Amino acid sequence: MENKLENVLSDYTDEDYSGAETPEIFSVAIDGPAGAGKSTVAKIIAKTLGIVYVDTGAMYRAMGLKALNLGYDPADPASVIPMLPDTEISIAYVDGAQHIFLDGEDVSGLIRTEEVSQAASKISAIPEVREKLVELQRALAKKESLVMDGRDIGTVVLPAAKYKLYVTASAEVRAQRRFLEYEQKGKLDGRSFEDILAEIIERDDRDMNRPVAPLRPAEGAVIVDTSELGIDEVVAKVLEIMGAAAK
Ligand code: C5P
Repeated sequence: MENKLENVLSDYTDEDYSGAETPEIFSVAIDGPAGAGKSTVAKIIAKTLGIVYVDTGAMYRAMGLKALNLGYDPADPASVIPMLPDTEISIAYVDGAQHIFLDGEDVSGLIRTEEVSQAASKISAIPEVREKLVELQRALAKKESLVMDGRDIGTVVLPAAKYKLYVTASAEVRAQRRFLEYEQKGKLDGRSFEDILAEIIERDDRDMNRPVAPLRPAEGAVIVDTSELGIDEVVAKVLEIMGAAAK
């Protein structure tokens, strides 16, 4: 697998993507449900291509965190909308990793809890919240080449992205991965596999069935089902797809 992966990677030199003198700005849009492996793949692709990775989920998480901090119901537009003009979300890179800032404070370490996941999913259904964050995301993509992942990147944010992917896996496989990850990190908090599966299904259902920017494959997106693939295989497949699309 190592060799095969290396061969695939060596086919995609800088030349194919950004000429050193007149760099072309392009985007890679990766969408998909929670736990499909999007961010792992997106980070590796970004590193391989030498471009930045933007995790848009972190922006919705920061919004959700703010609502929780203020004691608001993140699903309630009447409390969330008035909060927006005074809310500043930005990103910065520290040692190559994206950090998310909420009103000037680095909240990267506070947004990976289940409470914030569900708050992000609720607040992201409010159109005004999306409008604000989509504007920020487009401004980032205009500035430089990037790999951006989320739920609506290929459908709404960057429909003209050069490459569009929809990374998915069965709910059971995604829950299994999350369960193992939480177990290793000591973040299970007494939850069973069934609890994790129920959380994943709840978030999928909300993200896929909201009226604004529901999660679905973008037109022209290549669907990559990671249920039975290891990370190396997924990356190799994605790079192969991108190589084919570039021809
Ligand atoms: O990707 P992540 O799990 O961090 O996203 C958290 C939540 O933010 C998702 O469940 C989804 O509701 C929302 N989101 C979104 N649009 C994006 C990225 C995330 O609605 N582009």
